[in-house]
Amino acid sequence: MAGEARIKKIRNIGIIAHIDAGKTTLTERILYYTGRIYKIGEVHEGQATMDYLPEEQERGITITAACTTCYWRNHEIHLIDTPGHVDFTIEVERSLRVLDGAVGVFCAVGGVEPQSETVWHQAERFKVPKIAFINKMDRIGANFFGVVKQIEEKFGVKPVILTLPYGEGEDFKGVIDILSQKLILWDEESLGEKYDFYPVPEEIQEEVNRFRKELIETVVEFDERLMEKYLTDEPLSLSEIKGLIRQGVLARKITPILAGSALKNKGVQPLLDAIVDYLPSPLDIPPIKGTDPFTGKEETRPPDEAAPFSTLAFKVQMFEGRKMVYLRLYSGVIEVGKSVLNATQNKKEKIARLFLMHAAKRTRLEKAGAGDIVAAMGLKHTVTGDTLCDPAHPIVFEPIGAYEPVISIA
Ligand code: GDP
Repeated sequence: MAGEARIKKIRNIGIIAHIDAGKTTLTERILYYTGRIYKIGEVHEGQATMDYLPEEQERGITITAACTTCYWRNHEIHLIDTPGHVDFTIEVERSLRVLDGAVGVFCAVGGVEPQSETVWHQAERFKVPKIAFINKMDRIGANFFGVVKQIEEKFGVKPVILTLPYGEGEDFKGVIDILSQKLILWDEESLGEKYDFYPVPEEIQEEVNRFRKELIETVVEFDERLMEKYLTDEPLSLSEIKGLIRQGVLARKITPILAGSALKNKGVQPLLDAIVDYLPSPLDIPPIKGTDPFTGKEETRPPDEAAPFSTLAFKVQMFEGRKMVYLRLYSGVIEVGKSVLNATQNKKEKIARLFLMHAAKRTRLEKAGAGDIVAAMGLKHTVTGDTLCDPAHPIVFEPIGAYEPVISIA
Protein backbone atom coordinates (compact mmCIF):
# COMPACT_ATOMS: atom_id res chain seq x y z
CA MET A 1 0.00 0.00 0.00
CA ALA A 2 1.49 3.35 -1.03
CA GLY A 3 2.71 5.55 1.78
CA GLU A 4 2.11 2.85 4.35
CA ALA A 5 5.21 3.60 6.43
CA ARG A 6 4.21 7.27 6.68
CA ILE A 7 0.53 6.61 7.45
CA LYS A 8 1.46 4.08 10.13
CA LYS A 9 3.13 6.87 12.10
CA ILE A 10 0.10 9.17 12.12
CA ARG A 11 -2.22 9.46 15.13
CA ASN A 12 -5.41 11.47 14.68
CA ILE A 13 -6.48 12.00 18.25
CA GLY A 14 -9.13 13.92 20.14
CA ILE A 15 -9.14 14.76 23.82
CA ILE A 16 -12.58 14.34 25.31
CA ALA A 17 -13.41 15.73 28.71
CA HIS A 18 -15.92 17.42 30.93
CA ILE A 19 -15.31 21.16 31.28
CA ASP A 20 -12.69 21.79 33.97
CA ALA A 21 -11.24 18.26 33.89
CA GLY A 22 -8.02 19.81 32.60
CA LYS A 23 -8.19 19.31 28.84
CA THR A 24 -6.67 22.71 28.04
CA THR A 25 -3.87 22.29 30.56
CA LEU A 26 -3.13 18.79 29.32
CA THR A 27 -3.13 19.94 25.68
CA GLU A 28 -0.68 22.71 26.56
CA ARG A 29 1.60 20.24 28.32
CA ILE A 30 1.46 17.86 25.38
CA LEU A 31 2.43 20.69 23.04
CA TYR A 32 5.19 21.72 25.42
CA TYR A 33 6.69 18.26 25.75
CA THR A 34 6.45 17.64 22.04
CA GLY A 35 8.46 20.80 21.46
CA ARG A 36 5.87 22.95 19.77
CA ILE A 37 5.46 25.72 22.33
CA TYR A 38 8.04 26.95 24.74
CA LYS A 39 6.13 29.05 27.19
CA ILE A 40 3.22 27.86 29.22
CA GLY A 41 0.67 30.45 30.27
CA GLU A 42 -2.05 30.15 32.89
CA VAL A 43 -4.83 28.78 30.74
CA HIS A 44 -7.63 31.04 31.91
CA GLU A 45 -5.71 34.18 31.08
CA GLY A 46 -6.46 33.43 27.47
CA GLN A 47 -3.00 32.32 26.41
CA ALA A 48 -3.81 28.71 25.75
CA THR A 49 -2.56 27.75 22.36
CA MET A 50 -5.56 25.79 21.11
CA ASP A 51 -8.08 28.49 22.07
CA TYR A 52 -7.50 31.27 19.66
CA LEU A 53 -10.97 32.58 19.00
CA PRO A 54 -11.83 35.60 21.16
CA GLU A 55 -15.23 34.14 22.05
CA GLU A 56 -13.56 31.12 23.57
CA GLN A 57 -11.12 33.19 25.50
CA GLU A 58 -13.96 35.17 27.00
CA ARG A 59 -15.95 32.13 27.97
CA GLY A 60 -13.02 30.00 28.95
CA ILE A 61 -14.32 27.03 26.99
CA THR A 62 -13.20 25.37 23.82
CA ILE A 63 -15.68 25.39 20.96
CA THR A 64 -13.66 24.97 17.77
CA ALA A 65 -12.39 21.80 16.21
CA ALA A 66 -9.03 23.22 15.20
CA CYS A 67 -6.31 20.65 14.67
CA THR A 68 -2.75 20.99 15.94
CA THR A 69 0.18 18.87 14.84
CA CYS A 70 2.97 17.74 17.14
CA TYR A 71 5.59 14.99 17.17
CA TRP A 72 6.45 12.27 19.66
CA ARG A 73 8.86 9.37 19.16
CA ASN A 74 8.98 10.03 15.43
CA HIS A 75 5.18 9.87 15.15
CA GLU A 76 2.99 12.70 13.87
CA ILE A 77 0.15 13.39 16.27
CA HIS A 78 -2.76 15.52 15.11
CA LEU A 79 -4.67 16.79 18.11
CA ILE A 80 -8.21 17.49 17.03
CA ASP A 81 -9.90 19.82 19.43
CA THR A 82 -13.14 18.32 20.68
CA PRO A 83 -15.53 20.73 22.38
CA GLY A 84 -16.29 19.97 25.99
CA HIS A 85 -19.59 21.76 26.28
CA VAL A 86 -22.98 20.17 25.78
CA ASP A 87 -24.25 23.08 23.64
CA PHE A 88 -21.87 22.03 20.93
CA THR A 89 -22.84 18.41 20.46
CA ILE A 90 -22.86 18.78 16.68
CA GLU A 91 -19.31 20.18 16.87
CA VAL A 92 -18.33 17.18 18.96
CA GLU A 93 -19.80 14.93 16.33
CA ARG A 94 -17.88 16.66 13.55
CA SER A 95 -14.61 16.15 15.32
CA LEU A 96 -15.45 12.57 16.27
CA ARG A 97 -16.01 11.83 12.60
CA VAL A 98 -12.42 12.59 11.68
CA LEU A 99 -10.42 11.30 14.64
CA ASP A 100 -9.20 7.73 14.90
CA GLY A 101 -8.59 7.52 18.65
CA ALA A 102 -9.40 9.51 21.76
CA VAL A 103 -8.04 10.28 25.20
CA GLY A 104 -10.70 10.71 27.86
CA VAL A 105 -9.58 13.10 30.59
CA PHE A 106 -11.18 12.78 34.02
CA CYS A 107 -10.71 14.73 37.19
CA ALA A 108 -9.45 12.48 39.99
CA VAL A 109 -11.82 14.25 42.39
CA GLY A 110 -14.90 14.88 40.20
CA GLY A 111 -14.71 11.54 38.37
CA VAL A 112 -16.94 10.72 35.42
CA GLU A 113 -19.28 13.66 35.00
CA PRO A 114 -22.38 13.76 32.77
CA GLN A 115 -20.81 15.62 29.85
CA SER A 116 -17.82 13.33 29.57
CA GLU A 117 -20.25 10.45 29.71
CA THR A 118 -22.18 11.91 26.77
CA VAL A 119 -19.10 12.45 24.63
CA TRP A 120 -17.65 9.06 25.57
CA HIS A 121 -20.86 7.37 24.41
CA GLN A 122 -20.82 9.39 21.21
CA ALA A 123 -17.23 8.29 20.59
CA GLU A 124 -18.36 4.73 21.23
CA ARG A 125 -21.00 5.11 18.49
CA PHE A 126 -18.25 6.04 16.10
CA LYS A 127 -16.28 3.01 17.33
CA VAL A 128 -13.39 5.19 18.46
CA PRO A 129 -10.74 3.33 20.54
CA LYS A 130 -9.96 5.18 23.74
CA ILE A 131 -7.55 5.51 26.60
CA ALA A 132 -8.25 7.35 29.85
CA PHE A 133 -6.10 9.83 31.74
CA ILE A 134 -7.05 10.43 35.36
CA ASN A 135 -5.88 13.98 35.91
CA LYS A 136 -5.51 16.18 39.00
CA MET A 137 -3.98 13.41 41.12
CA ASP A 138 -2.36 16.22 43.11
CA ARG A 139 -5.71 17.50 44.39
CA ILE A 140 -6.91 16.78 47.90
CA GLY A 141 -9.56 14.10 47.69
CA ALA A 142 -8.07 12.55 44.53
CA ASN A 143 -9.38 9.01 44.25
CA PHE A 144 -7.74 7.07 41.43
CA PHE A 145 -9.44 3.73 42.02
CA GLY A 146 -12.81 5.41 42.58
CA VAL A 147 -12.60 6.95 39.09
CA VAL A 148 -11.38 3.67 37.56
CA LYS A 149 -14.46 1.98 39.03
CA GLN A 150 -16.74 4.69 37.62
CA ILE A 151 -15.17 4.27 34.17
CA GLU A 152 -15.77 0.54 34.39
CA GLU A 153 -19.37 0.85 35.58
CA LYS A 154 -20.59 3.85 33.61
CA PHE A 155 -18.95 2.94 30.31
CA GLY A 156 -19.12 -0.84 30.61
CA VAL A 157 -15.45 -1.15 29.62
CA LYS A 158 -12.65 -3.30 30.97
CA PRO A 159 -10.05 -0.93 32.42
CA VAL A 160 -6.39 -1.96 32.39
CA ILE A 161 -4.09 0.13 34.51
CA LEU A 162 -0.87 1.19 32.78
CA THR A 163 0.36 3.71 35.33
CA LEU A 164 -0.52 3.84 39.02
CA PRO A 165 -0.29 7.07 40.98
CA TYR A 166 2.51 7.16 43.51
CA GLY A 167 0.94 9.11 46.34
CA GLU A 168 -2.29 11.11 46.20
CA GLY A 169 -3.24 14.72 46.86
CA GLU A 170 -0.36 16.74 48.25
CA ASP A 171 1.71 13.56 48.38
CA PHE A 172 1.35 12.82 44.68
CA LYS A 173 4.94 12.33 43.57
CA GLY A 174 4.85 10.50 40.28
CA VAL A 175 3.57 7.33 38.66
CA ILE A 176 4.52 3.69 38.57
CA ASP A 177 4.72 2.20 35.13
CA ILE A 178 3.15 -1.23 35.51
CA LEU A 179 4.76 -2.88 32.48
CA SER A 180 8.34 -1.81 33.10
CA GLN A 181 7.83 -1.89 36.89
CA LYS A 182 9.54 1.44 37.36
CA LEU A 183 8.72 4.44 39.45
CA ILE A 184 8.79 7.65 37.37
CA LEU A 185 9.49 10.91 39.18
CA TRP A 186 9.49 14.34 37.56
CA ASP A 187 11.78 17.20 38.17
CA GLU A 188 9.49 20.07 39.32
CA GLU A 189 11.98 22.79 38.48
CA SER A 190 12.22 22.17 34.77
CA LEU A 191 8.48 22.20 34.03
CA GLY A 192 8.52 18.47 34.36
CA GLU A 193 10.24 17.76 31.07
CA LYS A 194 12.96 15.82 32.84
CA TYR A 195 12.07 12.54 34.48
CA ASP A 196 13.90 9.61 35.95
CA PHE A 197 13.12 5.96 36.47
CA TYR A 198 13.57 4.38 39.89
CA PRO A 199 12.93 0.90 41.24
CA VAL A 200 9.45 0.33 42.66
CA PRO A 201 9.53 0.94 46.44
CA GLU A 202 9.53 -2.36 48.29
CA GLU A 203 6.34 -1.75 50.24
CA ILE A 204 4.23 -1.60 47.07
CA GLN A 205 6.10 -4.13 44.94
CA GLU A 206 3.54 -6.81 45.66
CA GLU A 207 0.65 -4.59 44.61
CA VAL A 208 2.46 -3.65 41.40
CA ASN A 209 3.11 -7.35 40.65
CA ARG A 210 -0.59 -8.01 41.12
CA PHE A 211 -1.61 -5.26 38.67
CA ARG A 212 0.96 -6.46 36.15
CA LYS A 213 -0.32 -10.02 36.39
CA GLU A 214 -3.92 -8.83 36.07
CA LEU A 215 -3.04 -6.76 33.00
CA ILE A 216 -1.26 -9.64 31.27
CA GLU A 217 -4.01 -12.11 32.08
CA THR A 218 -6.58 -9.75 30.62
CA VAL A 219 -4.78 -9.14 27.34
CA VAL A 220 -3.33 -12.60 26.75
CA GLU A 221 -6.86 -13.76 25.96
CA PHE A 222 -6.64 -11.88 22.67
CA ASP A 223 -4.09 -14.27 21.18
CA GLU A 224 -4.15 -18.04 21.43
CA ARG A 225 -0.48 -18.52 20.70
CA LEU A 226 0.62 -16.09 23.39
CA MET A 227 -1.96 -17.48 25.77
CA GLU A 228 -0.37 -20.91 25.28
CA LYS A 229 3.06 -19.43 25.90
CA TYR A 230 1.85 -17.71 29.06
CA LEU A 231 0.17 -20.85 30.36
CA THR A 232 3.38 -22.83 29.96
CA ASP A 233 5.15 -20.24 32.11
CA GLU A 234 7.23 -18.82 29.30
CA PRO A 235 7.65 -15.09 29.89
CA LEU A 236 6.10 -12.76 27.33
CA SER A 237 8.32 -10.03 25.96
CA LEU A 238 7.45 -6.37 26.51
CA SER A 239 6.70 -5.91 22.83
CA GLU A 240 4.41 -8.97 22.85
CA ILE A 241 2.46 -7.54 25.79
CA LYS A 242 2.27 -4.11 24.16
CA GLY A 243 1.05 -5.74 20.95
CA LEU A 244 -1.71 -7.47 22.90
CA ILE A 245 -2.74 -4.23 24.59
CA ARG A 246 -2.87 -2.50 21.21
CA GLN A 247 -5.00 -5.30 19.83
CA GLY A 248 -7.39 -5.01 22.79
CA VAL A 249 -7.64 -1.22 22.48
CA LEU A 250 -8.29 -1.33 18.73
CA ALA A 251 -11.03 -3.91 19.25
CA ARG A 252 -12.37 -1.69 22.07
CA LYS A 253 -12.21 -4.61 24.49
CA ILE A 254 -10.04 -2.78 27.01
CA THR A 255 -9.43 0.80 28.08
CA PRO A 256 -5.92 1.60 29.30
CA ILE A 257 -5.86 3.93 32.29
CA LEU A 258 -3.06 6.33 33.22
CA ALA A 259 -2.67 8.63 36.20
CA GLY A 260 -1.18 12.11 36.34
CA SER A 261 -1.43 15.78 36.97
CA ALA A 262 -1.22 18.07 33.97
CA LEU A 263 -0.84 21.11 36.20
CA LYS A 264 2.06 19.59 38.12
CA ASN A 265 3.64 18.24 34.92
CA LYS A 266 3.44 14.63 35.96
CA GLY A 267 2.38 11.63 33.95
CA VAL A 268 2.02 13.36 30.56
CA GLN A 269 4.94 11.66 28.76
CA PRO A 270 3.67 8.14 29.56
CA LEU A 271 0.34 9.27 28.10
CA LEU A 272 2.10 10.35 24.89
CA ASP A 273 3.80 6.94 24.80
CA ALA A 274 0.42 5.26 25.18
CA ILE A 275 -1.05 7.35 22.34
CA VAL A 276 1.76 6.19 20.05
CA ASP A 277 1.79 2.58 21.29
CA TYR A 278 -1.91 1.82 21.56
CA LEU A 279 -4.15 4.22 19.67
CA PRO A 280 -4.84 3.47 16.01
CA SER A 281 -3.13 4.87 12.95
CA PRO A 282 -5.33 5.61 9.91
CA LEU A 283 -4.32 2.16 8.63
CA ASP A 284 -6.12 0.50 11.52
CA ILE A 285 -9.43 2.10 10.58
CA PRO A 286 -11.78 0.31 8.19
CA PRO A 287 -11.96 1.90 4.71
CA ILE A 288 -14.45 4.78 4.70
CA LYS A 289 -17.75 4.28 2.91
CA GLY A 290 -19.71 6.60 0.69
CA THR A 291 -21.83 6.77 -2.43
CA ASP A 292 -21.10 7.80 -5.98
CA PRO A 293 -23.46 10.80 -6.30
CA PHE A 294 -24.02 10.19 -10.01
CA THR A 295 -24.69 6.44 -10.03
CA GLY A 296 -25.83 5.89 -6.43
CA LYS A 297 -23.35 3.03 -6.22
CA GLU A 298 -21.75 2.33 -2.84
CA GLU A 299 -18.03 3.12 -2.76
CA THR A 300 -15.19 2.63 -0.29
CA ARG A 301 -11.83 4.36 -0.01
CA PRO A 302 -8.87 2.65 1.67
CA PRO A 303 -6.15 4.61 3.53
CA ASP A 304 -3.83 4.29 0.55
CA GLU A 305 -1.96 7.02 -1.34
CA ALA A 306 -2.43 5.10 -4.58
CA ALA A 307 -6.24 5.12 -4.28
CA PRO A 308 -8.34 7.97 -5.73
CA PHE A 309 -8.19 11.07 -3.59
CA SER A 310 -10.99 11.67 -1.05
CA THR A 311 -11.35 13.99 1.91
CA LEU A 312 -13.94 15.33 4.35
CA ALA A 313 -14.16 19.04 5.19
CA PHE A 314 -14.85 19.03 8.91
CA LYS A 315 -14.32 22.60 9.98
CA VAL A 316 -14.33 26.03 8.40
CA GLN A 317 -12.60 28.88 10.18
CA MET A 318 -11.58 32.40 9.38
CA PHE A 319 -7.84 32.68 9.73
CA GLU A 320 -6.23 36.11 9.37
CA GLY A 321 -9.24 37.26 7.39
CA ARG A 322 -9.25 34.29 5.01
CA LYS A 323 -11.35 31.19 4.78
CA MET A 324 -9.54 28.11 6.00
CA VAL A 325 -11.04 24.66 5.57
CA TYR A 326 -9.82 21.76 7.72
CA LEU A 327 -9.64 18.54 5.76
CA ARG A 328 -9.28 14.94 6.79
CA LEU A 329 -7.77 12.94 3.96
CA TYR A 330 -8.99 9.39 3.72
CA SER A 331 -7.34 8.22 0.51
CA GLY A 332 -5.00 9.33 -2.24
CA VAL A 333 -2.94 12.51 -2.40
CA ILE A 334 -3.99 16.14 -2.84
CA GLU A 335 -1.75 18.77 -4.35
CA VAL A 336 -1.79 22.53 -4.35
CA GLY A 337 -3.13 23.90 -7.63
CA LYS A 338 -4.95 20.72 -8.65
CA SER A 339 -8.66 20.71 -9.37
CA VAL A 340 -10.88 18.80 -6.99
CA LEU A 341 -14.56 17.97 -7.05
CA ASN A 342 -16.78 19.02 -4.21
CA ALA A 343 -18.98 15.99 -4.74
CA THR A 344 -21.56 17.06 -2.16
CA GLN A 345 -22.33 20.23 -4.13
CA ASN A 346 -21.18 19.02 -7.55
CA LYS A 347 -18.81 21.95 -7.93
CA LYS A 348 -15.19 22.10 -9.05
CA GLU A 349 -12.83 23.68 -6.56
CA LYS A 350 -9.12 24.47 -6.48
CA ILE A 351 -6.79 24.25 -3.51
CA ALA A 352 -4.63 27.38 -3.48
CA ARG A 353 -2.65 26.61 -0.33
CA LEU A 354 -2.22 23.76 2.09
CA PHE A 355 -0.99 23.98 5.66
CA LEU A 356 -0.02 21.78 8.51
CA MET A 357 -1.21 23.62 11.60
CA HIS A 358 1.05 23.67 14.63
CA ALA A 359 0.42 25.34 17.96
CA ALA A 360 2.17 28.62 17.26
CA LYS A 361 2.82 28.45 13.52
CA ARG A 362 1.76 26.77 10.31
CA THR A 363 3.85 25.00 7.71
CA ARG A 364 3.12 25.32 3.98
CA LEU A 365 2.72 22.01 2.19
CA GLU A 366 2.79 21.20 -1.51
CA LYS A 367 0.79 18.05 -1.02
CA ALA A 368 -0.78 15.85 1.63
CA GLY A 369 -1.69 12.19 1.65
CA ALA A 370 -4.14 9.63 3.03
CA GLY A 371 -4.47 9.82 6.82
CA ASP A 372 -3.39 13.47 7.08
CA ILE A 373 -5.31 16.35 8.57
CA VAL A 374 -4.50 19.67 6.95
CA ALA A 375 -5.97 23.11 6.43
CA ALA A 376 -6.65 24.41 2.93
CA MET A 377 -7.17 27.86 1.46
CA GLY A 378 -8.85 28.68 -1.83
CA LEU A 379 -11.96 26.52 -1.46
CA LYS A 380 -14.73 28.98 -2.32
CA HIS A 381 -17.85 26.85 -2.01
CA THR A 382 -16.89 24.16 0.48
CA VAL A 383 -18.66 24.06 3.83
CA THR A 384 -18.36 21.76 6.83
CA GLY A 385 -19.45 18.24 6.00
CA ASP A 386 -18.68 18.34 2.26
CA THR A 387 -16.73 15.60 0.54
CA LEU A 388 -13.93 16.67 -1.79
CA CYS A 389 -12.57 14.09 -4.17
CA ASP A 390 -10.86 13.18 -7.40
CA PRO A 391 -13.18 14.41 -10.21
CA ALA A 392 -12.68 11.10 -12.03
CA HIS A 393 -13.77 9.09 -8.97
CA PRO A 394 -16.68 10.85 -7.28
CA ILE A 395 -17.74 9.87 -3.79
CA VAL A 396 -19.86 11.51 -1.11
CA PHE A 397 -19.38 10.37 2.48
CA GLU A 398 -22.30 9.97 4.81
CA PRO A 399 -23.26 13.52 5.90
CA ILE A 400 -22.31 14.82 9.31
CA GLY A 401 -25.44 14.81 11.39
CA ALA A 402 -26.60 11.45 10.09
CA TYR A 403 -26.09 10.14 13.59
CA GLU A 404 -28.49 11.36 16.25
CA PRO A 405 -26.39 12.73 19.09
CA VAL A 406 -26.87 10.91 22.37
CA ILE A 407 -27.70 13.39 25.09
CA SER A 408 -27.77 12.13 28.63
CA ILE A 409 -27.67 15.02 31.02
CA ALA A 410 -28.27 14.01 34.60
P1 GDP B 1 -10.73 22.31 30.68
O1 GDP B 1 -11.97 23.10 30.94
O2 GDP B 1 -11.01 20.84 30.69
O3 GDP B 1 -9.98 22.73 29.46
O4 GDP B 1 -9.79 22.50 31.95
P2 GDP B 1 -8.55 23.47 32.20
O5 GDP B 1 -7.32 22.90 31.63
O6 GDP B 1 -8.94 24.83 31.83
O7 GDP B 1 -8.41 23.32 33.78
C1 GDP B 1 -9.45 23.72 34.67
C2 GDP B 1 -8.83 24.15 35.97
O8 GDP B 1 -8.23 23.02 36.57
C3 GDP B 1 -7.74 25.21 35.81
O9 GDP B 1 -7.83 26.08 36.91
C4 GDP B 1 -6.46 24.40 35.86
O10 GDP B 1 -5.37 25.14 36.36
C5 GDP B 1 -6.85 23.27 36.81
N1 GDP B 1 -6.10 22.04 36.55
C6 GDP B 1 -5.85 21.42 35.39
N2 GDP B 1 -5.12 20.32 35.56
C7 GDP B 1 -4.90 20.22 36.89
C8 GDP B 1 -4.18 19.28 37.69
O11 GDP B 1 -3.59 18.31 37.23
N3 GDP B 1 -4.19 19.53 39.05
C9 GDP B 1 -4.83 20.60 39.60
N4 GDP B 1 -4.76 20.74 40.91
N5 GDP B 1 -5.49 21.49 38.86
C10 GDP B 1 -5.53 21.31 37.53
